[in-house]
Amino acid sequence: MFIDPHIHAVSRTTDDYEAMAAAGVVAVIEPAFWLGQPRTAVGSFFDYFSTLVGFERFRAAQFGIRHYCTIGLNSKEANNIPLAEQVMEILPLFLAKEGVVAVGEIGYDDQTDAEDRFYREQLKLAVETDLPVMVHTPHRNKKVGTSRSMDVAIEMGLPPSKVIIDHNNEETVREVLDRGFWAAFTIYPNTKMGNERMVEIVRQYGAERIIVDSAADWGVSDALAVPKTARLMRERGIPEDQIHKTCYANALEAYGQSGQMSEQDWLNPAPVDQRTLYEGNSVLRGGQEPRIDRPEKGDLIV
Ligand SMILES: [Zn+2]
Repeated sequence: MFIDPHIHAVSRTTDDYEAMAAAGVVAVIEPAFWLGQPRTAVGSFFDYFSTLVGFERFRAAQFGIRHYCTIGLNSKEANNIPLAEQVMEILPLFLAKEGVVAVGEIGYDDQTDAEDRFYREQLKLAVETDLPVMVHTPHRNKKVGTSRSMDVAIEMGLPPSKVIIDHNNEETVREVLDRGFWAAFTIYPNTKMGNERMVEIVRQYGAERIIVDSAADWGVSDALAVPKTARLMRERGIPEDQIHKTCYANALEAYGQSGQMSEQDWLNPAPVDQRTLYEGNSVLRGGQEPRIDRPEKGDLIV
């Protein structure tokens, strides 16, 4: 069993869900993020958050995958201050929804004053709602930005055990682990932080508080990054318990602190029944045969 604790599933296809389920992914966490271009109105955020806690959760379940999400204002769009202020007002409503396991992904992009302001305000929300935090660390000036993300989280009253620092690399991992934070790694295909380097990090640092994810989205990315990394670890002689921790158990422990995610959700799931509708809408298109697991007596099996 695997968990992919960072995937932007709204931009993926049903083929991805089927392939993930076949590869052993039982649960995913979808962080709220930007959409490739800036939104212009708070209503766009409202509808996006509604999709994360609503239709996408339903859609994943139709393929046998439990879907959780994190809700937050991303760092890029924090730079539109008037809009960011409006988004802050709707966050508490969504943070209280079922299946929301953290505030996130939040943090720094260009490390501007506006980003700092809304990162702090959202950390405060996390303290108030007693939720973990998923931190997106910047791609530029990463080492400085990562240290600063942790400094500010502590300053705002978050214990490191409630904060998952994502998008780590070899430069940042030691400090993140030494300071007691969770260290997540995003495995993008054809980049320096690929599967091979991930295996070496686990070999060097062990499995404590290390988390593997795909961060798959609408860009060049791989929805199977977690199971593939696990397979490579196995081939390279990483012990099974370390694979289990980094590709499943650590994510469950970190985000399970929300009280919204438990192993029972996928060990005793409701059977897949693709006849089910969400507000009248189906995942099936004209004439497709629904998948029905553990059908009740009297169901038509073709
Ligand atoms: Zn992301």
